[in-house]
Amino acid sequence: MTVIAASLGHPRMGSTRELKKALESYWGGKSTSSELLATASSLRRQHWTTMKDKGLEHIPCNDFSLYDHVLDMAVCLGVIPERYQSLRDPLERYFAMARGRQDRQQGLDLAALEMTKWFDTNYHYIVPELEVGQRFHLDASKLLAELEEARALRVDPRPVLLGPVSFLLLSKHAPHAPQGASTLALLDAVLPVYEQLLAVLAERGVAWVQLDEPCLTLDLTPAARSAYQQGLQRLSQLRNRPRLLLATYFGELGANLSLATGSGCDALHVDLVRAPSQLDDTLKALPTSMRLSVGLVDGRNVWRTDLDAAHQQVRRAVRELGSDRVFIAPSCSLLHVPEDLDSESKLEPELKSWLAFASQKLDEVRALASAAEQDSPTAAAFTSARAAIASRRASPRTRNPAVRARMLTVDESMSRRGAPFQERARRHQERLRLPVLPTTTIGSFPQTGDVRGARAAWRAGRLSSAEYDAFLKEETRRCIEKQEAMGLDVLVHGEFERNDMVEYFGEQLDGFVFTENGWVQSYGSRCVKPPLLYGDVARPRPMTVGWATYAQSLTSRPMKGMLTGPVTILQWSFVRDDQPRGETCRQIALALRDEVQDLEAAGISIIQVDEPAIREGLPLRRQDWKDYLRWAVDAFKLATSGVQDETQIHTHMCYSEFGDILEDIARMDADVLSIETSRSKLELLVDFARFQYPNEIGPGVYDIHSPRVPSQEEMVGLLERARSVLPASQLWVNPDCGLKTRGWPEVEAALTHMVEAARVMRERLAGLPRLASPGSPS
Ligand code: GLN
Ligand code: ZN
Repeated sequence: MTVIAASLGHPRMGSTRELKKALESYWGGKSTSSELLATASSLRRQHWTTMKDKGLEHIPCNDFSLYDHVLDMAVCLGVIPERYQSLRDPLERYFAMARGRQDRQQGLDLAALEMTKWFDTNYHYIVPELEVGQRFHLDASKLLAELEEARALRVDPRPVLLGPVSFLLLSKHAPHAPQGASTLALLDAVLPVYEQLLAVLAERGVAWVQLDEPCLTLDLTPAARSAYQQGLQRLSQLRNRPRLLLATYFGELGANLSLATGSGCDALHVDLVRAPSQLDDTLKALPTSMRLSVGLVDGRNVWRTDLDAAHQQVRRAVRELGSDRVFIAPSCSLLHVPEDLDSESKLEPELKSWLAFASQKLDEVRALASAAEQDSPTAAAFTSARAAIASRRASPRTRNPAVRARMLTVDESMSRRGAPFQERARRHQERLRLPVLPTTTIGSFPQTGDVRGARAAWRAGRLSSAEYDAFLKEETRRCIEKQEAMGLDVLVHGEFERNDMVEYFGEQLDGFVFTENGWVQSYGSRCVKPPLLYGDVARPRPMTVGWATYAQSLTSRPMKGMLTGPVTILQWSFVRDDQPRGETCRQIALALRDEVQDLEAAGISIIQVDEPAIREGLPLRRQDWKDYLRWAVDAFKLATSGVQDETQIHTHMCYSEFGDILEDIARMDADVLSIETSRSKLELLVDFARFQYPNEIGPGVYDIHSPRVPSQEEMVGLLERARSVLPASQLWVNPDCGLKTRGWPEVEAALTHMVEAARVMRERLAGLPRLASPGSPS
């Protein structure tokens, strides 16, 4: 027997996003459920056929999902909160859990389950909601149907299951559960269903099951460790079960290695891309009863694998274990990379030769497996990989000498504002003369069908650049007029010219390239197309100054200049892996620093640098936080500290757990921070107050995730709450996030209420100066 080539999971959308289209058409009532299911089934068949044709031996099933694999696992375990149970149709119920369901006639108003980020990826999963005494029962219908479907293609697949401990750790208790209840307490209740499921699969002749336990790469509490000990051992001791591959990814097992090697499972998958050094320890600790699946092809990025380097690792494993105990696989599911490089026709050939999407990654896995017995592989896959790696290493297009030279001149003083915050704040007040509780928005205004249509027409050449420009100017003008009419204090231009807050900058910066079809799933039917950051970043010319000065020319109120921050640009791109991320981030920061200074020179008095992704870049392991936070905060400061004290720097963050990085947010030293808080009813602001956040802060008082228009009284209530924890002189009034996904009528109504709420508050605070002495309560 020779080493096995395997995959842990395939992208779901299809190379032209067929699944997205089918889902949206079904949700929009334009097609039937059988049409949707037919598309899904045809995609699965394509994926299996691809893997089979490429010669993979272990091919996953049940990795496909109509919405999300965690939700699938919840359904498989019978975890359906009571409020959805009135929906009898399983598909309707499934989508109601995923996206909520409103139906006036039926009197239905079901909110969706919570959604959150899948580890440190940009994929979002649906958080299962558990009762304290949750009962579980098996519904294996999806899994078994897919198993049969694959077998009809003569593929004998390896079903993927989210393991019991990760399932519980990723779930949440229903809001009415007593405080402090731990989902891990349900381990004994859920294990019998897993046992039952494994028995059913054994009965069907399934040889291997992939049991995903990604939480094994996190810092675990003693309770989680003991859940792993008990849970995995109990499953592995089952008499009649398929073989179990325990799959870990996104990082190193570290102190959890013994939990994995002592689990009694038949194989262990480790991520050797994120944590190459764990091969040694794993080889040492692996019991003879276990095989090893080495994840050597990067499932999180798009660069071609250095096959020779990976081959060395394979050889080490084969020498230690023998080839019949080694599997080769991508580091994690390929869900996080685009499907097929072959569908890119416009990429420059040299650059394209450096890349591998899912389909190409499977070829790499195959090549590594086939060469596992050889000392010096000569297969074509290896020679062409060698050439590509050499070309990328030597290519002048990844290196810009001017950028490199300038990087050497960066010193610590460039990351420090002139005067301390209190002094800057005094000067801002002299210059801007804002009322107490100034009102503003986060940047974007509704991207209506007209705006998207004009952009599409311009991209397709049906609208000339001059016409498109005139259209955007008119939209911007109208948007400013509306903001003035609503009485907002600090205006924005509306971001109509931007399709996406990262793409817009990537397109204007050197070092980035864009794909045609490089989509990856973000959640449900939503996909993103991350730019490829392949080379040194430079800014050939100003990017936003034209729009900012045009917008400022239309009003006498302050107009915010709007930029996306360095960490967010980095985080939402596929980033070069040939230098540390912190280094790349610093290059982006330098380019943005020039933009910030150009905006200032053009007379823009307030500049906002958005960093919504700063928290999501946080490493999974606490020991790695410090390093990340150091370079991430430094990058923001490098981008924003080149201005005069008179210029007010804003930043914005949203939809993350900020509680544990308050100190680092404070170190960013933005004059004003607008932050999403209405979801948690300002709970987050209490954290900021307790921490004594020193600078100005605008807690979001308008939840922009629904068309609902909050009343003025509701916002007054939130502002009263805010004022009870922080001095009014420190507070701004703004929505949670940008308004691009909303419609104009609701936005106008909500912002009118918001401005009115601020006015009411100002009356209550009558006479209070905008700048109280630091820390004095209002
Ligand atoms: N300025 C951006 C906008 O308003 C910020 C978006 C975000 O936080 N994701 O759209
Ligand atoms: Zn936001």
